[in-house]
Amino acid sequence: MANQNIMCTVSSCHYWTQGNRCNADQILVTSDAMAQKQPDSIDAPRAEALQTVSANSSMETCCKTFVHKNSDKTNADGIKKQ
Ligand code: SF4
Repeated sequence: MANQNIMCTVSSCHYWTQGNRCNADQILVTSDAMAQKQPDSIDAPRAEALQTVSANSSMETCCKTFVHKNSDKTNADGIKKQ
């Protein structure tokens, strides 16, 4: 069953599902700058150890859990489909 609280329109993501819902068991939202610096293995399961970041608008944030549905790295971060 899809996450009832996280809505997302990025249909090319491995976790996207019908109704524009996210089917990941957890996600990590962070700044674009942080996401670009960190490897795929850094994601929601390691969030408690991460430093906080600052952003000035929604355009400076992103979903780091995104992985393309055709990627061979869908297991790189420990995130599972619900
Ligand atoms: S992991 Fe992120 S980009 Fe992918 S469906 Fe969920 S919210 Fe959208």
